[in-house]
Amino acid sequence: MNLQGTTALITGASRGLGRAIALHLAAQGVKVAVNYRKERVLAEEVVAQIRVSGGQAEAIGGDVGVAAEADALVTGTEAALGPVDLLVNNAGIFRRSSIDDFNEDEFAEMRRINVDGLVYVTRAAAKGMKERRRGRIVNLTSIAAHGTLMAGTTFYAATKAAVIVLTRRFALELGPFGISVNAIAPGFILTDMVYQGRTAEESEALIADIASKAMLRRVGQPEDIASAVSFLLAQDFLTAQVLTVDGGRTDYTSHAG
Ligand code: NAP
Repeated sequence: MNLQGTTALITGASRGLGRAIALHLAAQGVKVAVNYRKERVLAEEVVAQIRVSGGQAEAIGGDVGVAAEADALVTGTEAALGPVDLLVNNAGIFRRSSIDDFNEDEFAEMRRINVDGLVYVTRAAAKGMKERRRGRIVNLTSIAAHGTLMAGTTFYAATKAAVIVLTRRFALELGPFGISVNAIAPGFILTDMVYQGRTAEESEALIADIASKAMLRRVGQPEDIASAVSFLLAQDFLTAQVLTVDGGRTDYTSHAG
């Protein structure tokens, strides 16, 4: 599928991976809805950057984990940029905890955004996609769902495992309507999320450690994920797949460290 001239809705595109995905798709002539929850100014900067380069984009606020806001996100995109051809369910949060410090409220919030939010936005976007009998959906899971050694990712991983199951089940449900659903499982990518809850020194040590264990001897940049998302969106005969993009992290194939 040639992406030029299509319309994409990217959830959580004010920062990090979503921002890189928005910029990457816009550079290919895709009209881009840049969703944000809190960071309106950052989202508007992404939109301004796209427009300066001759592209079309719109910043659209809304919490994906609130069904009515997810619906409004899709209708807002359609009003501003036309029917949603491409959906990237990128919005997500990470709260660190393990079995001994399990926090019910934090787990509920992760589930609300990472899982329910993905369901709400997919349901809203799939309605029109089914009528038009075309659509491409890419979900952001994580290698945490495959299994990593990184401490504190257990309950986050549970939400991202749900994303993998939903990817395959939605592919099954929506495939007959010409809609593909795939997922990207990123490894360690340098965004705000990986610095969260760590000092600068802790972050630098972690980055060096992870890079040393990856086959490609580096951690990821947001653009590494954006190009993989774009690849999946352009595929016509590929669905229900999870593409790992992690530079060859070994800790999920060998728990030796
Ligand atoms: P990030 O830098 O923390 O950015 C998160 C984005 O999600 C922000 O744009 C934020 O919007 C948005 N967001 C959060 N809650 C939202 C909600 N309820 N409704 C709408 N938007 C919401 O995260 P990231 O690293 O780019 O991660 C993006 C996705 O990749 C997530 O699903 C994450 O789990 C996944 N992932 C990341 C990594 C990594 O290493 N970075 C690895 C594996 C998977 P505001 O700024 O407006 O609040």
